[in-house]
Amino acid sequence: MKKSTPPAVQVASNGVRHSNPWAHDNLVNAAQTMDAITAGEVDAFVVSKDPSSARVLTLSDADRPYRMFVENMREGAATVSSDGFILYANWRLAELASRTRESLIGSSLTGLVAGGAAVEEQLLWLGSGSGGSTFEIDLVAGNGVSVPVLIGVSKLELDGDVLTCLTFTDLSAQKAQDRIIARLSHSQGEQLVELQDAQASLTRQATHDGLTGLANRALLIDRINQSLWQAQRSEHLTAVIYVDLDCFKEVNDSHGHAAGDQVLRWVAGRLTALVRPMDTVARLGGDEFAILLPDIDSRVHAVDIGLRIVAELRRSREPLVGGERISASVGVAVSVSGGGSAETLLHEADTAMYKAKTHGGDRAEAFDADLGREVEARTAARHALQSALAEGRIGLRFQPIIDLTDLHLAGFEALVRIEALDGEVVLPSAFISVAEDSGLIIPLGTEVLRLACRQASSWRSVEGGPRLTVAINLSARQFEPGDLVSLVQHEIDDNGVDPTCVHFELTETAIINLRPDVIEQLGRLREYGVELGLDDFGTGYASLTHLRRLPVTFVKIDRSFVQGLGCNREDDRIVASMVDLAFSLGLRSIGEGVETIPQLERLREFGCDQAQGYLFAQPLAARDVSAAINRTDWRDCWNSG
Ligand code: C2E
Ligand code: MG
Ligand code: MG
Repeated sequence: MKKSTPPAVQVASNGVRHSNPWAHDNLVNAAQTMDAITAGEVDAFVVSKDPSSARVLTLSDADRPYRMFVENMREGAATVSSDGFILYANWRLAELASRTRESLIGSSLTGLVAGGAAVEEQLLWLGSGSGGSTFEIDLVAGNGVSVPVLIGVSKLELDGDVLTCLTFTDLSAQKAQDRIIARLSHSQGEQLVELQDAQASLTRQATHDGLTGLANRALLIDRINQSLWQAQRSEHLTAVIYVDLDCFKEVNDSHGHAAGDQVLRWVAGRLTALVRPMDTVARLGGDEFAILLPDIDSRVHAVDIGLRIVAELRRSREPLVGGERISASVGVAVSVSGGGSAETLLHEADTAMYKAKTHGGDRAEAFDADLGREVEARTAARHALQSALAEGRIGLRFQPIIDLTDLHLAGFEALVRIEALDGEVVLPSAFISVAEDSGLIIPLGTEVLRLACRQASSWRSVEGGPRLTVAINLSARQFEPGDLVSLVQHEIDDNGVDPTCVHFELTETAIINLRPDVIEQLGRLREYGVELGLDDFGTGYASLTHLRRLPVTFVKIDRSFVQGLGCNREDDRIVASMVDLAFSLGLRSIGEGVETIPQLERLREFGCDQAQGYLFAQPLAARDVSAAINRTDWRDCWNSG
């Protein structure tokens, strides 16, 4: 690192600013400054390499106790500029280094630490990252003696300047004790060794996980930081692999915590066996593990190890939990030329792991810039949804559902929208999956239910009007709080809506893993009178089983099949057999996404009961719904166009 001239320090004492730049040749001011700092008189001081741009930071009365705390603490403390000059040193550091504070402040860190420029560079590098780090070094005291210290490094950002904060704990006494032990008689030595072992075990507890014996998060972070620093000087890359077990909660719930602990120990053993001795395997807590590969030659290599971990855990059966299979979601992140911090790398690996989890687990994903952007976009979508919920900007559109026997209006599907602040309307594709993941789908679903029932109530009041149904999409997560049935009853009863006019659509994929208590809630909903159906029918893979097991009354044939009708004979056959299947099970069939007349004709030919799609109408704003209700002939839709 290139050295520049020492920074200028401006000092204001008793409210009066001394503008003398403090440099090598101006030690008189350094002494004055010291007096002012010590007496607690300094109101402000700030550092800059360029005196003309030096800024003055005012120390408020509230901040004064904190400065006095640093002044008087037992450890040495210093702040260092990004180019290695000591900007501040407390009394204790001066004492440890057997120097005056005047000589320390403004001097280069190189002169204070043994190992010179290389160690200084490492300290500054660690200080520029976000994670704290500690290790042992020797101070070069003014009297020529080396003083062993434990140095703590952290970053301080001050209005755009990045400073390194150092603390120094004196290790002289401990080192002296070590030397005495080395000279003691055999039995005395043994006793002291036992004592030392006890101390070592305490240290180990602070850096290792008690259950598995693996490194803990603090030690892992420390090692990642060291590796990143070393990687700056070599061609090698640093990789972090995040491992999260799939369904570990189920193991704990069904086999007890002792079995769960055994699984964790077993996984720890498998992971350790899969990597090299130089790699660090850590348990971060719960069923989360992370592995540091400090020295790999390519990104592909890191991903390969991630894949091996997935395959190994999948292949092995945990013998202690009744042969239950263990699998994991694995995320891989690799640092480019040692850039970034331990926290960033770990976060990226965690993000990639999360992606693996959302794709069903039992797989590995690598972090890349696209994934980073995706995470940012999802975070933004979550915030937008949160504020829309808080500010009442959730709206509904209503898409007509047409009965195919005589083309009359049967009802509407309620489709949620966010009314953005700029007047734009945000479609569900931008926020439903984020809402599902974050749990916001629960309050969102409640709001949709409320708005839909209110709307359905207004249709009911149209004098002599038709009996119209409202279809509401339901997420499987809305069953989690356990009060969905009473919530539904409350909204329907309050709005005076006929329960049989309210239809709930559950996506086929959402119901594949339904728990017994959810099936029970579905049963109670059905008993209350509302109808239940499967949305996007044909896109899941357990259709028949679910059709038989669930109290459903209709299926909505997915748009992707309807689209091919009239031009793809295979789709014709598939849709025809879906309609037949529904009919034979006593279920109503609805074709969705009908855009063309041939699609409509095929559906009618196959005996499909109802249809919805742009051919009839787009989802309509509430104000346009009454025009749709009053429409007598839906053939107008295409005849007029
Ligand atoms: P879905 O329930 O299958 O809704 C049908 C989607 O297809 C709607 O998109 C609708 O606008 C669109 N669509 C209808 N006819 C046509 C057509 O002829 N052509 C084409 N290309 N598209 C058509 P939308 O409103 O964007 O909703 C998308 C999905 O978001 C819905 O699919 C549903 O899964 C989900 N969703 C919407 N509202 C809610 C809600 O309140 N709660 C939950 N949990 N999910 C919702
Ligand atoms: Mg739907
Ligand atoms: Mg659908």
